[in-house]
Amino acid sequence: MRLVLLGAPGAGKGTQAQFLVDAHGLAHLSTGDMLRAATAAGTEVGRRAKDIMDRGDLVPDDVMVEIIADRIDQPDCAKGFILDGFPRTVAQAEALDGLLETRGLALDAVVQIAVDEALLLARIEKRAAETGGARADDTAETMKNRLAVYREQTAPVAAYYERKGALKSVNGMQDIAAVRDEIDEVLKAVVS
Ligand code: AMP
Repeated sequence: MRLVLLGAPGAGKGTQAQFLVDAHGLAHLSTGDMLRAATAAGTEVGRRAKDIMDRGDLVPDDVMVEIIADRIDQPDCAKGFILDGFPRTVAQAEALDGLLETRGLALDAVVQIAVDEALLLARIEKRAAETGGARADDTAETMKNRLAVYREQTAPVAAYYERKGALKSVNGMQDIAAVRDEIDEVLKAVVS
């Protein structure tokens, strides 16, 4: 099974991706984790990505597409994979289509964990007000920027998959187990 998980920052993509990895034995391709590993290792890509990530902006599409192209060719992806945090722009989604097509592969589903962005923003502002201090403000600013970037650049990715008839949306405003169950139902319908 090959899946894309879409959702705003704080929607619970990482948590749900881990459930799917455990349940279906899929490789977990989190581009955020890959970039953080590259930053920690001090690679060229990691050095270029660090400031961009700290601001909450997006790393350039060509860098991301190259990372994913290498990654999906690794042996552990043969059994299927879950993309968590990629694609984040329509250009990345189009590039992914091309990468899969040249390999004779296709996505089985794109699952969107839908959350109320106004509520996410309210949570961030509340946390910033409670903790106070420059560093917490920086974090709140970054989170706000990440939400804005999501709205402007990543929300169109959901529309892109919707047009293709591939998008399945689940209610991300429930507790973790209920979201997991809803995703399971969606996937049962897709793969059966
Ligand atoms: P995440 O852990 O998925 O929230 O990603 C953390 C940060 O890594 C994002 O805020 C971006 O700066 C960067 N990043 C992760 N995935 C991508 C992507 N597909 N395209 C561009 N930037 C990304």
